[in-house]
Amino acid sequence: MHGLMMSMPMTIGSILEHAQRVFGSKLVVTRQPDRSLHVMTYRDLHTRVKKLANALTALGIQPGDRVGTLGWNHHQHVEAYFGIPEMGGIIHTLNIRLSSGQLAYIINHAEDRAILVDGSQIPLLEDIKDRIRGVEHFIIWSGADQVACNLPGTIHRYEDLLDEADASHECPVRDERAAMGLCYTSGTTGHPKGVLYSHRSMYLHTMGVNQANAFGLTERDNVLAVVPQFHAMCWGLPYGAALAGANLVMPGPFLDAASLAELLHDRRITVAAGVPTIWNSLYHELKRNPVDISSIRALIVGGSAMPRPLIKAYEQELGVNVMHAWGMTETSPIGSVCVPLSRHRDLDPEAAWDVKARQGPPVAGVALRIARDEEEQPWDDRATGEIQVKGHWVASQYYRTENVAEHFTSSGWFRTGDIAAIDPDGYVRITDRTKDLIKSGGEWISSVELENTLLSHANIRETAFVALPHENWGERPLAVIVPHDRNEGISLQEVRRHLAPKFPRFWLPDAMALVSDIPKTSVGKFDKKVIRQQILKGELEIIRE
Ligand code: ADP
Repeated sequence: MHGLMMSMPMTIGSILEHAQRVFGSKLVVTRQPDRSLHVMTYRDLHTRVKKLANALTALGIQPGDRVGTLGWNHHQHVEAYFGIPEMGGIIHTLNIRLSSGQLAYIINHAEDRAILVDGSQIPLLEDIKDRIRGVEHFIIWSGADQVACNLPGTIHRYEDLLDEADASHECPVRDERAAMGLCYTSGTTGHPKGVLYSHRSMYLHTMGVNQANAFGLTERDNVLAVVPQFHAMCWGLPYGAALAGANLVMPGPFLDAASLAELLHDRRITVAAGVPTIWNSLYHELKRNPVDISSIRALIVGGSAMPRPLIKAYEQELGVNVMHAWGMTETSPIGSVCVPLSRHRDLDPEAAWDVKARQGPPVAGVALRIARDEEEQPWDDRATGEIQVKGHWVASQYYRTENVAEHFTSSGWFRTGDIAAIDPDGYVRITDRTKDLIKSGGEWISSVELENTLLSHANIRETAFVALPHENWGERPLAVIVPHDRNEGISLQEVRRHLAPKFPRFWLPDAMALVSDIPKTSVGKFDKKVIRQQILKGELEIIRE
């Protein structure tokens, strides 16, 4: 027997409907290219979203068509997050930091019919114009002077399209399982693969991240989304903020630490979200030029492991609460969030930071286990295994990609490729990615744990460990290090001495390279693929014992 309750489709449109009815005067704030702040209400957003939906329809875009976006975090991009799904289209966020080959690949693979683009990003498209012949419309977000571009489709000015469009629009989406968003993995581990979100999955993800046991956004929050809108749906923040009625603040192109510090202070930010490299540089900026950021209740961090020394420094020196989260494009992206338990409140600070360095328990809506293939491992914080997930917002396959089998177990769990232990409370501790583990003499060495510990050294600004091929041992760890002060430098003995108390002898690196910068991926993670290539090409000056 079915229940006798109404069935209302869970659509992206219903999120915005709620925002404008209940929180119509709350704000979306954008730092514009000229550094001035643009301020609009959710009511304004609602109007412009409806206009965008009508404008796209007038251009001939049909429900189910893919519409690309290529730009920074700003209100026009938020309008696209709502406006494209509003008319039944699928927003395909294009990462501005991809190589031209990858960008052309994903635009063609997705068969984007139109692309909304920042004036400043037009050269990226001009570069690949002969390879993306299927795009019929280019809609330019900023200034009139930038419309004179050399692209193969019809060129439109975004504001002109909106001016001409009607503000009343009824969303045609009746089936909540209809696709609304397409995001390609950043390809850290190979060719980008498309993850196709539905209205239902994204709606449930929004409810999921807004749980008090996750980001817990409310109307009292001012949210700064540093994580790019072109990466993993901006961790769901535009939708989460709108549903909760929180003010949403977008940094535009200004992701440097000084600009972020200014926004955190001036907009009294309560929740800010970004990757560890961003928070690492912000920390150094705040130490140099302190500003009052006591409004922050959660500095959310994810995308790669937040080193424990940095969590400790934020809390101890700056009084900022760090909230560690884990996820991936395939999980929409939020899978776990480290919100402390009541019993963690009684821990001494060192033990509490140990907890905060963990990626937290799975959020309700995601089932998570560690396993070796199908063999589940215990939650005793010792056994390790691959994180495998199932859930309302977990991909069931990749967009138009064969070869599904390797990504799922025979009983249907999604294989994340991340290796972790889980404590009896369900708190995940990621020890590595399958591809980044170092195998020495048949034993595994965790690059993440070495990085975490070495970063607490006073003269080390950044460090990444990768495997160096070795005749006897198969692989040995190589420490790639950015020192704070190059002149002062750091010796291999000093590195080993710093690590020795915590790790078995065979974990200690017998080689290192001092560099001024560690290569990063398009989303700011250490790009170990590039480091490995640098080693192969002999581009790194390797210092050995
Ligand atoms: P890609 O796989 O291309 O890097 P994603 O941005 O989807 O694309 O990255 C997901 C991966 O990022 C995860 O599988 C995991 O390896 C890593 N990751 C995300 N959050 C964390 C975290 N808090 N700690 C450690 N690793 C993380």
